Amino acid sequence: MKITTAIFDLDGTLLNTLGDLCDSVNYAMLRHGFAAVTEEETRVRVGNGVRNLVTRCIPEEKRTEAMIDNCLDDFRTAYGERMMNRTQPYDGIIPLLKKLKKAGVSVGVLSNKYDLAAKSLIRHFFGDLVQVTYGERPDTPRKPDPTSTLQLLRELGGDATTTLYIGDSATDMQTAKNAGLCAIGVTWGFRAADELTAAGADALVHEPAELLPLFERGPLAVDAICKAFTERGFGFTYFPTAADALSYLTNTCAGKSVSLGGSMTFKELGFPEAFVGSTAVHWHWVKQGEFFQTPDIYLSSANALSETGEVVNIDGACNRVSGTLFGPKRCIFVCGINKLCPDLQSAIDRARNVAAPLNAKRLEKKTPCAVDGKCHDCKSPDRICRAMVIHMGPPQRMERCEIVLIGEALGY
Ligand code: SF4
Repeated sequence: MKITTAIFDLDGTLLNTLGDLCDSVNYAMLRHGFAAVTEEETRVRVGNGVRNLVTRCIPEEKRTEAMIDNCLDDFRTAYGERMMNRTQPYDGIIPLLKKLKKAGVSVGVLSNKYDLAAKSLIRHFFGDLVQVTYGERPDTPRKPDPTSTLQLLRELGGDATTTLYIGDSATDMQTAKNAGLCAIGVTWGFRAADELTAAGADALVHEPAELLPLFERGPLAVDAICKAFTERGFGFTYFPTAADALSYLTNTCAGKSVSLGGSMTFKELGFPEAFVGSTAVHWHWVKQGEFFQTPDIYLSSANALSETGEVVNIDGACNRVSGTLFGPKRCIFVCGINKLCPDLQSAIDRARNVAAPLNAKRLEKKTPCAVDGKCHDCKSPDRICRAMVIHMGPPQRMERCEIVLIGEALGY
């Protein structure tokens, strides 16, 4: 693993604490005769420490400093008793932390929750899977100020260049940026993806398991990857989110004839529904047997992209690889960050040992890879690997061949 240190936010990132936060804030509200809040209202109001949560729940006309202090005391009493009633780690978090521990990654937690509660929760749910926890402490500024982050980084023995900061809020993304760290936004928590992107997320993940490739590969070096592709003559654009990339694609393809090969990436992006209103998409996944190989624009994903600027695709019917080679005026390869590999050899390995087996399984092929997830270079009649194409540069007669890289995991 290239990444040696991870700093996680707590609420909404490692633990779903919403139920206990809501119950505790309602204990305080009801004691003072205020209306209870829903979990959804709590989710929107949580952030930047419990004082802010409590303040936002008190009716505006009653929001004096004395009232906030009283409600905060009640909240703390209630939360101390309730904080493990409904709180649970998000699915996939404990296996992720176990894998990080096995790989020797130092893990710290930085929370705007008060220190005692943060430490109790971490000890209870994660034990020694987390080395150091900082909650809100007197005389130390809260996130997004970088002071605590940098202290935590020092205590973990980490280096900014090999550390990921992982959180679910704009405050977390700003904290990472202020501390000079790579900011990874998670979308399973309390805030929406567009908020994380607007706050400067370097990449978004939707499942804890999607973090592992980021630890293996290190922070996304978009500039270097862009240089590797553009030096070979490819166009290159990076979009942090699938929504941004989709908007670019629908605008680019509007009014043009468009065709695409089989692709889980495009299915997850919302094709062909996303194109209704801009142009007609010819896709054999929609209209069986319709292979339109000479459109204005041919859209394809790839089984792997190398950070050295190559595109790797394996195909069975070979319409997809042929469409990317000759016929269309323009070809756009659209890939999530899960397709990135450090070099050509690892990209080929990914195509053969990750993408092809998963596709064989999806298509219910009787191949050994569909059983154990590894390529056996089979001679099976069901073999889906009939051609492997490596684009080392744009095909000569194509007007433009470009890469659209998306900072989210998409397809396989
Ligand atoms: S060659 Fe056979 S075993 Fe290997 S990935 Fe292709 S279908 Fe699977």
